[in-house]
Amino acid sequence: MKDLLIVGTVAFDAIETPFSKTDKILGGAATYIGLAASNFPIKSGIVSVVGNDFPQEYIDLLKNKNIDLKGLELVEDGKTFFWSGRYHNDMNSRDTLDTQLNVLADFEPKVPKKFRDVKVVMLGNLHPAVQLSVLEQVENTNLVVLDTMNFWIESTPDLLKEVISKVDVITINDEEARELTGEYSLVKAARKINEMGPDYIVIKKGEHGALLFYKDEMFFAPALPLEEVFDPTGAGDTFAGGFTGYLAYKNDYSFKAMKNAIIYGSNLASFSVEKFGTERMLSLDKNDINNRLDLFNSLTQFEINLTD
Ligand code: AMP
Repeated sequence: MKDLLIVGTVAFDAIETPFSKTDKILGGAATYIGLAASNFPIKSGIVSVVGNDFPQEYIDLLKNKNIDLKGLELVEDGKTFFWSGRYHNDMNSRDTLDTQLNVLADFEPKVPKKFRDVKVVMLGNLHPAVQLSVLEQVENTNLVVLDTMNFWIESTPDLLKEVISKVDVITINDEEARELTGEYSLVKAARKINEMGPDYIVIKKGEHGALLFYKDEMFFAPALPLEEVFDPTGAGDTFAGGFTGYLAYKNDYSFKAMKNAIIYGSNLASFSVEKFGTERMLSLDKNDINNRLDLFNSLTQFEINLTD
């Protein structure tokens, strides 16, 4: 049995921030998720699609991180998914300048045989029809996690709701949770999303951390306050990769494990934003991760004696 199946875009991104700008670089939801999850000793694989313009160098880079690419289809006469975005001065919000689906438009995912029996499925950001098709091809899963974004909430709401009804966990950012439910209060929004299907609801608030809702319980993980944020692209996906990588590694899907998973996700996301694109994730080691987990501990632990 494999540990983690990742579905999502493998892409070219062009990013503009108030400080700098890139040409087409490696991006995509599945790329960030895979790189984050590769920090755990698990067997993970990606289901996605690229065109003939996708360089071998990027394929090697993912393979070198032990990510299985049997499910990455190459369309010989197609172009890779392209996304471009520009960040505002606060670096917490951005405008999408361009989304070119290219090979993603007609993609029919095929989950490799060896990945059909898998503990955790991470349905990263991409067309809900592809997410549904993947769900139909897997069996015996312990946990299915969904991430999505405004693009799909607006363009394919019914299909997206169908996927939402079939998953255990959803990760979504605050504005998207409001858009999906029509509720301003995140507590009310979480309750409405819970009624749509998922038991666990993770609402990401960018530099303000992430909230986890489960039944009547709530948990909050801060984002680590950083001196410099260079490029927030992929932070949400890196978070999802840390979250699912940890859960698949522990094979524990309790509320307690979810809380730790959120901390792992936030920890890895805090690295991802320090450099452009995937650069920081490629140079990360165990020491960096553990030192920062210590910082998370000291940031959030306090003791109040109620008798004082
Ligand atoms: P995040 O910053 O976590 O929202 O993720 C950014 C990544 O999502 C980029 O690398 C993009 O390639 C990818 N992306 C952007 N728009 C979409 C979309 N509509 N569907 C799937 N992936 C997308």
